[in-house]
Amino acid sequence: MIIVMGAGATEQEVENVIDKVHSFGLRTHPIYGVQKTVIGIVGDDKTRVVENMQGMPGIEDIIPILQPYKFAGREAHPDNTVIEVGGVEIGSKAIAVIAGPCAVESEEQLLAIARGVRDSGAQILRGGAFKPRTSPYSFQGLGEDGLKFLAEAREETGLPVITEVTDPRNVEMVCQYADIVQVGARNMQNFALLTEVGKSGHPVMLKRGPSSTVKDLLLAAEYVIIEGNRDIILCERGISTFETYTRNTLDLSAVPVIKHLSHLPVIVDPAHATGRNHLVEPMALAAIAAGADGIMVEVHNNPDAALCDGPQSLTLSQFDSMMEKLRSIARIVDRSL
Ligand code: PEP
Ligand code: MN
Repeated sequence: MIIVMGAGATEQEVENVIDKVHSFGLRTHPIYGVQKTVIGIVGDDKTRVVENMQGMPGIEDIIPILQPYKFAGREAHPDNTVIEVGGVEIGSKAIAVIAGPCAVESEEQLLAIARGVRDSGAQILRGGAFKPRTSPYSFQGLGEDGLKFLAEAREETGLPVITEVTDPRNVEMVCQYADIVQVGARNMQNFALLTEVGKSGHPVMLKRGPSSTVKDLLLAAEYVIIEGNRDIILCERGISTFETYTRNTLDLSAVPVIKHLSHLPVIVDPAHATGRNHLVEPMALAAIAAGADGIMVEVHNNPDAALCDGPQSLTLSQFDSMMEKLRSIARIVDRSL
């Protein structure tokens, strides 16, 4: 159930409504928007008693929500959410292309790749400064120095930047440098991290866990939203199956499934989904054909020498030729790029 307060509702009226809901033994999750306040009511079947509050001053509407993801679902929010980051729209008719190295390795490496992907038409630069590696002996990222290089690359190219945050204690620091913070697949259900990025108010890209259902993903998004942060981009990056040729199995049907269930934008990451350079382009094209709002790919100026994920990284010239083909597909599905 959600209670929508009218645009002119006073703070006192909002407080009275919240107190009344609490008197029924139910929990509230108010979201204070610029125009309106929306109060989410959580507490299983009992939420129906709230319907009796219809006449209370300030209330515009009371809407029953059956989907378990109360705020991420389309039921509460039928229109697509469009997120605007540094002049780039994600979730509108325009396709967003996020590109850059798996890991920031040096200032020179990042700048060379940033200039290259910008010249080919990427709108957002990616690069990991805190890398979630399977082995503790693998390259872990440059930490804050990497973030500084990202900020410098943004300055130089004008591209907004996205980077991963792996630890709730680093959220504040990462937000000082990044335009979008990424929650990686293996942290999708790190609830302390989700709460922290929710509190930050910064746009968040939430990647689907390798063993998570779409429902799990939407419920993870809910943890961010109930902190008042609705700027969430969902990312399909492949799930674990018994197939071994590919690193994961790209669940492309998740794109129209998420679009059906949720209003949040969806990005596809064909690099982590496949783990193989030659599969990135065909899966990127398929993602746009399937209705994704954009793609995220890994690009390196020298993939053979990459400190992380070289085998799935595109060269700058492969990226350039993929962009050409993406533009053709975008036109066919009535999107712009
Ligand atoms: C990444 O995008 O850098 C990454 C580590 O991806 P994932 O969390 O999907 O494995
Ligand atoms: Mn990677």
